[in-house]
Amino acid sequence: MREQGLTTITLKKINKEKVYQYIYEQKQTSKQQIVQELNMGLSTVSQNLNALEQEGLISRDGYFESTGGRKAQIIQIVSDFKIAIGVGILKNMFHIVAVNLYGEAVAKEIVSMDYSDTDEYYTKVTDDIEKFIKKNQYKDEQISGVSIATQGIISPDGESVTYGKIMDNSDMRLSDFSDKLPYPCRLEHDSKAAADLELWNHPEIDSAVVFLLNRNLGGAIITNRSVHQGTGMHSGSLEHMCINHDGPMCYCGNRGCLETYCSANSLEAAAGVPIKEFFPEMREKNNNIFKQIWEDYLKHLAYAIKNLNMVIDGPVIISGYLAPYFIDEDIDFMCENINAVTPFPMSKENIMVGLHGQFTPAIGAALYYVNRFIS
Ligand SMILES: [Zn+2]
Repeated sequence: MREQGLTTITLKKINKEKVYQYIYEQKQTSKQQIVQELNMGLSTVSQNLNALEQEGLISRDGYFESTGGRKAQIIQIVSDFKIAIGVGILKNMFHIVAVNLYGEAVAKEIVSMDYSDTDEYYTKVTDDIEKFIKKNQYKDEQISGVSIATQGIISPDGESVTYGKIMDNSDMRLSDFSDKLPYPCRLEHDSKAAADLELWNHPEIDSAVVFLLNRNLGGAIITNRSVHQGTGMHSGSLEHMCINHDGPMCYCGNRGCLETYCSANSLEAAAGVPIKEFFPEMREKNNNIFKQIWEDYLKHLAYAIKNLNMVIDGPVIISGYLAPYFIDEDIDFMCENINAVTPFPMSKENIMVGLHGQFTPAIGAALYYVNRFIS
């Protein structure tokens, strides 16, 4: 008897999940469509829809245009039933985003503040996260978790930063945040979080190289639809690939790392003006010196892309702060450089540009909790 009861309960749960998943994937659907597509009885579907509606997971609002008979009611999931908070910690600022169940950033904020490994700093960040949640009128139970992306390599157990030279955050611990917040929390390397967002946006991708063109360069390797971590958690640290033995000094102590040629900081240093002024000056005012600097930048990036494409034969995704500044001609120019002499030419379609700019790591980090709820 008992076993029988359990089986029925399990079956009911599976059916409910199936219905929810179907609505989630369709975005908008009708009862009749669910009955047909899932091969379920009308009464089973009705029961599940009632249960899902009562739990607040779905809503029934409005009607589809009539195709003859009675108008069908529009069924969709409640996309903010759970909200994941993503935080991107940088040297001089942090980003906070709220991400709904469709992975959309529905609220964003930038706070200027210098990082320091102090209680004062962590208190300010966590207070601002709480304020952000209140301001956007999210209820505590709506928050699925707070995912914090930071520069630096994270320990395999996710509890601390193990290499954090840029921000000097090698002592940063997950507990610095989680002790002050009433939600599940996690810590993630910002480049890997960025790769998670690109994976979300490109369901067709199996393997790829991700460049995070932020103030400091970052990168990640995607294989088999997951971000490669590595034994020491530093897979994809393409910023420290040496492209010139005699090049400029990198913060890691070596010379000529890609960081010193392709980070936003290096571009800014070469131009002598902030990025925000550099691009309009170059593109609209045709500043020839800036054009030359940008060409050099693209050549170095193309050189790295060409080499990495020999290791991972897949698309390259350009993401992060500088990504929104890229135009079609830049990709053409890089392709010319990559394919000038090569055994394996790369097609233009294999160079993709991310859409979320500086918010990429924060949004990508939040997706961890979205994925967990959806699956
Ligand atoms: Zn380096």
